[in-house]
Amino acid sequence: MTVRVRIAPSPTGPLHIGTARTALFNYLFAKNQKGVFILRIEDTDKKRSEKRFEIEIKEALAWLGISWDEEVIQSERIDIHKKYLQKLVKEKKIFWCPHTQEQLSLEREKQMQERQAPRHICEYRNGEKNEDQQGILRFKNDAAGELVFEDLIRGTVTSTPSLLGDFSVAKNFEEPLYNFVVTVDDADMRITHIIRGEDHIPNTPKQILIQNALGFERPQYAHLPLVLGEDRSKLSKRHGATAVTQYKKEGYFAPALVNFLALLGWHPKQTKGGSEEDIFSLEELIPLFSLSDIQKGGAVFDIKKLQWINGVYIRAMDKEKLAETLFPYLKQGWQNYAVVRPGWWQSIASLEQTRLVTFKDIIERVDYFFEDPVVRKEVLLEKGGSAEDTKAHLEAILKKIEPMQKGSFTGGSLHEKILPYAETHGKKSVLWPFRVALTGKSASAGLFEVAEIIGKEQTEKRLHHAIAVLS
Ligand code: GLU
Repeated sequence: MTVRVRIAPSPTGPLHIGTARTALFNYLFAKNQKGVFILRIEDTDKKRSEKRFEIEIKEALAWLGISWDEEVIQSERIDIHKKYLQKLVKEKKIFWCPHTQEQLSLEREKQMQERQAPRHICEYRNGEKNEDQQGILRFKNDAAGELVFEDLIRGTVTSTPSLLGDFSVAKNFEEPLYNFVVTVDDADMRITHIIRGEDHIPNTPKQILIQNALGFERPQYAHLPLVLGEDRSKLSKRHGATAVTQYKKEGYFAPALVNFLALLGWHPKQTKGGSEEDIFSLEELIPLFSLSDIQKGGAVFDIKKLQWINGVYIRAMDKEKLAETLFPYLKQGWQNYAVVRPGWWQSIASLEQTRLVTFKDIIERVDYFFEDPVVRKEVLLEKGGSAEDTKAHLEAILKKIEPMQKGSFTGGSLHEKILPYAETHGKKSVLWPFRVALTGKSASAGLFEVAEIIGKEQTEKRLHHAIAVLS
């Protein structure tokens, strides 16, 4: 039997981090089992579904590197749904219920008052009195006793189906509802394993009852633990970004995010050990992945862990690729980004490589190219020189720079003029405060290159300012 699994996002919003985790687990399971992974866009809710979200969801999955083998648009299958609805009406397994929302809420209120489970057991369930098909279609639920299904993660799950009452399956033949369409599509698409969030457990008994009515085979179920915020409530916007695209914007690297998502509720039996313990590429995950290693309890979204993983991936990046990836963030952060010549960008990017947590951090880390740095006395003197000596060194540098022509104010000529002085007076005592004066930082891109990029005037201005700070 070929394993066939699906991810079924509704295009009513951007790809949620929890749905991305579900997609990843389905993908990993399919690849591990040499099966088929299907993307099914569940757009039957026409009012809330939007094409732009469908596009965004697909782009976000592609960005993560999660590819699908087949694609299905649910609304294009409406004839199939209709056929099954008609079959069930004919067999008197579903029926038209004419009750209005108002009547139903009155009934619900009364049941609550009487401490009964709210449910609708319709007096039209035998279909006799409602020949002109008023209202909506409901499932004639005669199930008694317990309904049991085996879940590959949670074990035996038991429910009492009579509590569901005659539940709704469609607004009409053209507008089937979630539980009905999902059941038909899963069976029709020969889905073997339904791997989805635990929040769908309450839907499963309804789907099983519909399967039974239609004579469909039952697929295997695996309900994934919820993704929780730090406070252990279900991850939502108030915990921070929930859309995958937001993480892209924030400067996370797709393979790092995938690595992090994989560990939200899953861990391989055998650990790698060492500092690489939690680091897995998508290719590495495929042979390791197993549904039996998924935990039952909720999985906390720990942003610190994501940041750590992201840093690990950034440090492992090829220098050229890093520079290329960082450049759009530079452009996004600084309108005058063009002062940094593309030829220098790689060396600047490489210099920052070990310090970045996200790509977006580059914006702040190279701020000194674009605005005056904040220069602090303690930082100028951090390497131990006296204020007096340090000031004298900065004045000496200034003297060497002043007579230079603007046109020949290059990294190379600065190097030539200043290095001999630094070598005689101690490189550290001279170059350290020079760097701090220009950048405000204790580490930066090549000092003479920085001076060239910001230009003669700015270099002089910053040296004067640092001298003033020391006075
Ligand atoms: N469309 C449903 C959702 O967005 C998924 C349904 C399912 O996986 O059965 O949550």
